[in-house]
Amino acid sequence: MNQFTVITGVSGSGKSTLAFDILFNEGQRRYLLTLSSHAKSIIQNSRKTNIGKVINLPPTIAIKQHKGLGNYKSTVSNISEIHNFLRLIYAKLGEQHCHICKTFIRTHTVDQITVKILQDNYNQNIIVFSPISIKNLKNHIEKKDTTPFFLNNKLITQQKLRILNLSDDIIIEKLIGNIIVKNEKEEELRELVNIAVKTSDGFIKVISIKNTNIHVIDIESISDILIQQKTNEKFFNAKLACLNCNTILPTLEPLLFSHNSKNGCCPICKGTGINITNKNNKESSEDISLCNKCNGKRLNEEALSVYWKGYNIADILSMSVDRAIDFFENVQISSRESLIAKDILLEILSKLNFMKKVGLDYLELNQPEPTLSGGE
Ligand SMILES: [Zn+2]
Ligand SMILES: [Zn+2]
Repeated sequence: MNQFTVITGVSGSGKSTLAFDILFNEGQRRYLLTLSSHAKSIIQNSRKTNIGKVINLPPTIAIKQHKGLGNYKSTVSNISEIHNFLRLIYAKLGEQHCHICKTFIRTHTVDQITVKILQDNYNQNIIVFSPISIKNLKNHIEKKDTTPFFLNNKLITQQKLRILNLSDDIIIEKLIGNIIVKNEKEEELRELVNIAVKTSDGFIKVISIKNTNIHVIDIESISDILIQQKTNEKFFNAKLACLNCNTILPTLEPLLFSHNSKNGCCPICKGTGINITNKNNKESSEDISLCNKCNGKRLNEEALSVYWKGYNIADILSMSVDRAIDFFENVQISSRESLIAKDILLEILSKLNFMKKVGLDYLELNQPEPTLSGGE
């Protein structure tokens, strides 16, 4: 009584029988005998255990180990909720790369582009262009749009535009305007950026003229200036697309990083990370192999092409609890990142440290639930 007793022994030697079928069963049976006959009529009493003699047995309670309820889509990171917080980190701070050609995708909002131009081109004269697709250009021509168009930084007349052989590899740019970049002109600049982004469906080209003496530019002389003066050319992308290979990219949102969502899961294994093939149509002879599309990473290539601190989310999930604590404790966070994600990072660390505290620091975050023991 009042002691902690451990029953050990090899598998099948009768530990559970002793604990559940004898001690628990008999303890409960004897306790129920002391209840009123009304209570006994409600609770079905268990059968008498076939034993020689057990004495001093108090009422008993048994807690069975819980095991094997999960499936392969449920992992240590899901159960511990670390996965939810990690998905937020990747949605907010992830650096997106094109999943086809691996180009780094730098997208900006109109505000971000405006601020960047203010910082980089202060007091300079800039010309804002909107690179437009051939398809859009045809619309502009049909609408008899008379704003000037440029090809290779040269003004192209409406007449020439009409007879131009429109192939896919030429980029026609529509002139949006020119402005001297100053704080007091921020609103005007923002409006130019906004129009440029809308006209081109997301892209904007900014040419800054180094010679600060040139302040007023008329349309006819833009071509000359662009040829004669030292200029600096910059492209911005306000759209989620790869400029290199024209691939449309998904928005960074938490669902993209979930193998339980159609937005994020590997299209082949549907997020389990494995392939189960039935040999000989017998259920007992299942062959489990790693999914050869995602290599067990469970996510699609769009999600796996988003990096944070040089790792994609699958790299983090393949860490053990111990390794992940080390990573999150030592990761360098910029002040901007801290502003956005400080609380999320603290939450992840606290959950990891909890697992360490209860002795589970050796588990891998992406370990599937069926591979965990009852105790784990
Ligand atoms: Zn690409
Ligand atoms: Zn897969």
